[in-house]
Amino acid sequence: MPTDDRVLLSVRDLHTTFKTDDGDVKAVDGVSFDVHRGEVFAIVGESGSGKSVTSMSILGLLPPDTADIQAEGILWKGENLLEGSAGRLREVRGKEIAMIFQDPLSALNPVHTVGKQIGEMMRIHEGASRKQAKARAIELLKLVGIPQADRRVDMHPHEFSGGMRQRVMIAMAIACNPDLLIADEPTTALDVTVQAQVLEVLLSIKDEIDSAIMLITHDLGVVAGLADRVMVMYAGRAVELGTADEVFYETRHPYTLGLLASLPRLDDSGREKLIPIKGSPPSLLRRPSGCSFHPRCPFARVPGICNETEPPLHLVGGMAHVSACHFAEDMKNVGVAELREEETLA
Ligand code: SF4
Repeated sequence: MPTDDRVLLSVRDLHTTFKTDDGDVKAVDGVSFDVHRGEVFAIVGESGSGKSVTSMSILGLLPPDTADIQAEGILWKGENLLEGSAGRLREVRGKEIAMIFQDPLSALNPVHTVGKQIGEMMRIHEGASRKQAKARAIELLKLVGIPQADRRVDMHPHEFSGGMRQRVMIAMAIACNPDLLIADEPTTALDVTVQAQVLEVLLSIKDEIDSAIMLITHDLGVVAGLADRVMVMYAGRAVELGTADEVFYETRHPYTLGLLASLPRLDDSGREKLIPIKGSPPSLLRRPSGCSFHPRCPFARVPGICNETEPPLHLVGGMAHVSACHFAEDMKNVGVAELREEETLA
């Protein structure tokens, strides 16, 4: 059990397995991390890496008939949520931990005004009267930067633009002053300018209500300048975890480096230059032997250690910078430029 009182959430050795007709799919396979009060903790990975399943497992949002969740503990302020009742989990969800989804249109109810939907959270969790809830909904809409909030509080979701709807979702999520906001691909559906605005709102809200944010995204670019710490996931496992500076500037895993190299950059001719990671993520039904990343890794030593032995997460620098690569030490001398060279020679 964590003794550090900055730790809000502590996930220990989480395993989430889906039962399918073709066999067991280990969507999350032994993931551990902490989220500290006041920080932005980002979980990054391609689709199928297990990042969203991790957050759904924490909140108990997966169907129990198909998803088996096992962990040493999912500790929320020291209380093991896995041992709590369904009622206790419902209480934590929404009031203490709130979620912001990628697609506000499917998360918002089209037949109710946004004011009613924001107010509903306070009526359920805090017993607020209708009048109090509406007044607070207007306050929250103002806080997330929606102009003419007194008028817009009575409008329906379809009357808002995509970016404004995402702000409404944020207002809904912060209605009960949660300690932790889980934002799952909160800006993926938005254009770049609106994306930046929504992320700015999220960051200012974090300070305003003194919460932590767990940001889940496939886009390492979204995380830059926003996250305090970053966990990179691949095929259901954490492959690198450290402060944002460590992960971005002292990268110790080829997959993280691949994600960095696939971010848009300007080359000499002023055009965007991308180096996509070759191949696709593996099927979790037939995970590659040894290091799961070896079929796509430009630095893999195969046949040999990379396809034979699974690399454990180990300390590679700083206080808690860890990587699951046999050759993490060698990665000290490798950056995006060297990766480009490797890819050209391959
Ligand atoms: Fe690549 Fe081998 Fe490191 Fe895996 S262990 S990331 S295959 S170099």
